[in-house]
Amino acid sequence: MQFPALPEIPHPLQFKSVTFTALKPGPKLIVLGAVHGNEVSGSKAILKVIGEFERGELLLSTGQVTLVPITNPLAYNRRQRNGDRNLNRNLTPTNTPVDFEDHVANWLCPLLAQHDVLLDIHSFQKGEVPFALFGPENNRGTLQPFVHARAERELARCLGVTRFVDGWLETYAKGVENRVAYLKANQLPDAGLNTDPRYGMGTTECMRSSGGYAVTLECGQHEAPTGPAVAYDAIDRTLRHLGLVEGAPVELVQQWQRLTLVEVIDKQDDRDEFCRAWSSFDEIRKGELIGIRHGGQEVRAPRDGFIVFPNSTSKAGQEWFYVAIDQSALGCA
Ligand SMILES: [Zn+2]
Repeated sequence: MQFPALPEIPHPLQFKSVTFTALKPGPKLIVLGAVHGNEVSGSKAILKVIGEFERGELLLSTGQVTLVPITNPLAYNRRQRNGDRNLNRNLTPTNTPVDFEDHVANWLCPLLAQHDVLLDIHSFQKGEVPFALFGPENNRGTLQPFVHARAERELARCLGVTRFVDGWLETYAKGVENRVAYLKANQLPDAGLNTDPRYGMGTTECMRSSGGYAVTLECGQHEAPTGPAVAYDAIDRTLRHLGLVEGAPVELVQQWQRLTLVEVIDKQDDRDEFCRAWSSFDEIRKGELIGIRHGGQEVRAPRDGFIVFPNSTSKAGQEWFYVAIDQSALGCA
C-alpha cells in the first residue's frame, strides 16, 4: 500500500482540517492523526484518504467527515510526543492560553463538538499488537457521564483489531488521588496540572463530554511499517460502518481480548528505573519485580495482570506504568 509523503510545516502556527460534506444528512465523523507529534502512521493514512476523496476514488454518500492529518503541528515539527506539554491531557478550552497545547485545545475542542464520532489514531513506543481504547459503560456519574456505550463499542469492534482497553479516566482519577496523597505525605510542592483530575481529559474524553462518542486506535509501534495500513484500514471500515461511504458492510469482531486498566503507578523521581524493558501487555504476576526507585525501593506488581503504557522516560509525578486485568472472560466489549 502506497502512502503520500509527510508534509513539511514551515511555521507550526496554524491548524489545518479538511472537511467533506455529503448532500444527504448523516453522522459527522472526525479523524485525528499526530495528536502526539511522533505518531505519524495515522497522518499518512489520513492524507491517503483525503487524496482519495479529492480524486473521486471515494465519495461521501451521507453525513460529513473531517480529516486532521496533523493535530499538534509543533510536536510534529519537533518529531516528538509533545510540543510544550502532552496534548492528550487537560484538553479543555481556556481564555488564558499559556502553552502551545492550550491554543490547540481552543481550536480542537470546538471542532470536536461539531461532530458526533471521533476516531483518534495513535501509535505506541514498544510492543506489536494494535489495539483500541474505548470509554466507560453508560452512567450518570460526575466524572464521565455517558449514553453511547453500545455505539462506541461497536465502532471499536469494526476497526479490525481484536484487543481492547478501557478504564482510562477512572484509573487516572484514582492515580491523581494517590499522587496528591503522596505529595502531601512527603510535604512536596503541588506539581501543578497533573494533580488535577481533569488532567486525564484527552481527545476522547473531550468528545464524550460534548455529547459524542470516541475510540482511540493504537495502530502499532511508532516505526512499524504496517502502522499506516492498519490505520487506513480502520478509517475505511469506520466510513463504511457509519454508512458515510457505500460499500460492503463491516463485520464486527466476535472474539477479542478486553483489558481494563485498574491502577497507575507514578514515578517519584526522574531516575526511577524499570528492571527490564517492559512492553505494553507483558504479563505480570503479583509480587514480580517491575522496577527500582532511585532511593533503592523495589516496585513490585500489585496484582496478577498486564503492564500497559510503561514509560521509561516519564518524569517524577507522572505516570510510570499502568496495570490492567483481563476481562475477556466476561465476554462483552
Ligand atoms: Zn499517542
